[in-house]
Amino acid sequence: MSKKHISHLKVIFYLFILDLIIVWIIVLLFSAPAGKKPLFAKIPSDETLNLENKDPISQREIVDAYNFDKDYDFKPVEQRPYSVRVPILTYHHVAPLPSSRSSRPYFVSPEMFEKQMKYLDKKHYKSLTPIEFYDLLQLGKNPQQKSVMITFDDGNYNNYEYAYPILKKYDFVGVFYIVSDKIGIPIAALQEMSQNGMIIESHSATHIDLIPVTDAATLSSEITSSKYKIQYLTGRTITSFSYPGCGSNGNVVSTVAASGYLFAVSCGKSIDHSYYGRYGLSRMHAYSNLENFKKILSGIWEVTYDYE
Ligand SMILES: [Zn+2]
Repeated sequence: MSKKHISHLKVIFYLFILDLIIVWIIVLLFSAPAGKKPLFAKIPSDETLNLENKDPISQREIVDAYNFDKDYDFKPVEQRPYSVRVPILTYHHVAPLPSSRSSRPYFVSPEMFEKQMKYLDKKHYKSLTPIEFYDLLQLGKNPQQKSVMITFDDGNYNNYEYAYPILKKYDFVGVFYIVSDKIGIPIAALQEMSQNGMIIESHSATHIDLIPVTDAATLSSEITSSKYKIQYLTGRTITSFSYPGCGSNGNVVSTVAASGYLFAVSCGKSIDHSYYGRYGLSRMHAYSNLENFKKILSGIWEVTYDYE
């Protein structure tokens, strides 16, 4: 055998050893001993995604399924003709109230949030999933049981820290509109919420004002791509969109509808909705005040500066 041959064999041998080492490192990185987290989170492949088309069904026990017309603390406002009455509540931060007065309207203290959920529980409210809400809209009839949809905008970490445990305690469903490129809640926590019956929906990709956006590519990335990104994270089909800053126009609405969202939520002062208005649904903001909260449930909109 020539010297050249031997050096060739040597190179092949070393490459083989190097290969083994690389394979060994990969195996070591991705496998985790029992009870320990793997170094890298497992990314679901398209085959394992198996998107769920149905929302999880609440396990909450129905105490009074026919209570819609009775037992309100405030006399409900007159209902808009041909509408479906379901208060859609909006929350931003569920956390201790900040010292800054101007940001307080966006906060509900954890104690107050618990009081509000306890009140819904006491009055035998049902918390709707987006699909359940959509079904009612299509039917065009009021629910038989008092119902609300409890929504959260922006995906703030305190939603996971404070609101989620309280929602779980009362077996209520929270609908969380998150910003797909600026997620404030760790992915694993979002997945945990989703697996425990919370609904994770889209509040755009970067939370820009969509009204001045004229190019289709940006609209598509904010509205369409954000939907797929979040679906990829939760393995669940997204049903609805929340407009950043509640702003929309014809262009935005058409993109939302074309992207497969069944409805979209905005801001407003009404608890009455119609199928035809499903891409601009009115939500009432909940404040850190229990009396104000009870009024919202009766469709009474009032400014409050008294945050408890
Ligand atoms: Zn927002």
